[in-house]
Amino acid sequence: MPLPARSAADVRLSDAFEATGCPVCTEVARSDAVWLESILAESVNDIGFREELDRARGLCRHHVRRVLDADQRRAGRLGAAILLRASLGARLRDIERAHAARGWARRRRAEDAARPPACPGCAREASTTSWVAGAIVRLADDPVWATAIGDAPFCLDHLVLLLRERSASGGWAAAEARQLERLRDLRDLLEGFAHTSSHDRRHLQTDGQRAAIDAAADALAGDTARQRNTTRSNR
Ligand SMILES: [Zn+2]
Ligand SMILES: [Zn+2]
Repeated sequence: MPLPARSAADVRLSDAFEATGCPVCTEVARSDAVWLESILAESVNDIGFREELDRARGLCRHHVRRVLDADQRRAGRLGAAILLRASLGARLRDIERAHAARGWARRRRAEDAARPPACPGCAREASTTSWVAGAIVRLADDPVWATAIGDAPFCLDHLVLLLRERSASGGWAAAEARQLERLRDLRDLLEGFAHTSSHDRRHLQTDGQRAAIDAAADALAGDTARQRNTTRSNR
C-alpha cells in the first residue's frame, strides 16, 4: 500500500521509503543530485555563485565525486570544468602560500591549506537532512507512516537525528521502539554469526546471521556503504 501523501514533498519521501537502504540517505542523495544538476546547468555562469564558491575554497572531496557522477549524465563537460577549476584554484592559492613560506610561517600556511573547504554542497546537505528528519517525525502521527518508519533501515547517524526531534506522538514512540528492536536484533545476529563461525558449529549458521554483516555496515556507514557497492557492481 502506498504511503499517504498530502504534498509533493510527502510523495518524494514515500519514494525514499520504497527504495532500499536508509530513507534519509536516499532522499538527501536525490536532492543533492538535483542541486548538482542545477549548478552544472546554470549556476556555474553565475558570478555570485562563483564568488561564494571561491570564499568557501571550493567543494569537498565527496561533492567533487558527486559533480563527476552528475556530469556523466550530461552532454557537455563545461559545467564540471568551471566548477572544478574554481575549486582547484582556491586550494592551489593556499598551497602556493605554503610553498612560498619559510620557517614557522610555512607550518601555519600548511595548516591553512589543510583546512577542508566550507563546501556549499555540504551546507545544503545539512539543511536538507534536518528538514527531512523533521518531516519524517511529523509523518509518524499517521499510523500507516508510523509502521513504515518503524520498519525502515535508517542508518545510525540519521536515526539519532530523528531522536533529536523529540516528538511526543504515539506513532513516533512505537516507531522508535521498533527501531531499537531492529538494532538489538542486528547486534545479536552478529554475535550469533561469531558464535557459529567455528568449523564444528558452521552448520548452525543462519542466512539472517550472514546477512547481518551487510545490514550492520549499512547502519553504521549509511549511504557511503551503498555508494561503494553500486560503484563496485557497475564496474
Ligand atoms: Zn541515512
Ligand atoms: Zn561537500
